[in-house]
Amino acid sequence: MKIAIIGCAGRMGRTLVQEVHAHKETKLMAGVEQQGSVYMGKDIGILAGIGELGIAVTDDTEAAIKGSDAIIDFTQPDVTMRCAELAVTRGTAHVIGTTGLSEEQMQQLRTFAKKIPIVYAPNMSIGVNVLLSLVEKLAAALDDTYDIEIVEMHHRNKVDAPSGTALALGNVAAAGRKVKLEKVVRRTRDGYTGIRPPGEIGFATLRGGDVVGEHTVIFAGNGERIELTHKAASRVIFARGALRAALWTKGRKPGFYTMQDVLEI
Ligand code: NAD
Repeated sequence: MKIAIIGCAGRMGRTLVQEVHAHKETKLMAGVEQQGSVYMGKDIGILAGIGELGIAVTDDTEAAIKGSDAIIDFTQPDVTMRCAELAVTRGTAHVIGTTGLSEEQMQQLRTFAKKIPIVYAPNMSIGVNVLLSLVEKLAAALDDTYDIEIVEMHHRNKVDAPSGTALALGNVAAAGRKVKLEKVVRRTRDGYTGIRPPGEIGFATLRGGDVVGEHTVIFAGNGERIELTHKAASRVIFARGALRAALWTKGRKPGFYTMQDVLEI
């Protein structure tokens, strides 16, 4: 399977280059970076620390998409939307790890997914996707005398908050309670907040150092508390999940898929 990496010089991009190159069923075709990047023309293998691959970083997204069966894209929302539009014109599958997309952008992606397979997951790790199912089940089993709080910590360079994974955990918790997250969400607290309303789903965001990603979902009841925690020790878990998703799109009908579909959870 021919694969191009969008954002190949980024933290995730470099890890993806390593993983796609190492996999025997995939062939790395191109690595795309933004126009004017200091990495333009550099070898993507050297950037990824695995030696020369003979593939230079390009800004020609269209050519990269045209020459590939699937693109893997961990960039930023505007870039992802443009890639999806181009992927539709070429019939190329699109695996999206980018977080911070707006509701409107998500809707647009669902429209694009009528033409191509799109796998979107704010967290591609197997552990987090199993956690998502567990959280939904727990939220369904416990009533709203158990307050749900979601705490996340990421490295200092992360630009969106709460993390896409934290929001995904909030969404499944809300789904377990048969409510919409938008109706019960409390993304931040500051100053005189008043008491906590029942049913609220709260978020707390920590940023610092080089933390790859940590999420804890707390169900705080009277006299007891359940906490489910996932800690990512390396970006490799996301890259492997994305690669698995890309392979899974082979021969797949157009549609908007998640890692739950890929992993058949
Ligand atoms: P990063 O900033 O290190 O990498 C992003 C890369 O995209 C940069 O190299 C940047 O130059 C490049 N880019 C920007 N504009 C571009 C364009 N027009 N064309 C091609 N490349 C372009 O960030 P990161 O830590 O690698 O994270 C990237 C995204 O992936 C973020 O949204 C992050 O939250 C998300 N992420 C998702 C998962 C997951 O499992 N879904 C895991 C980790 C990170």
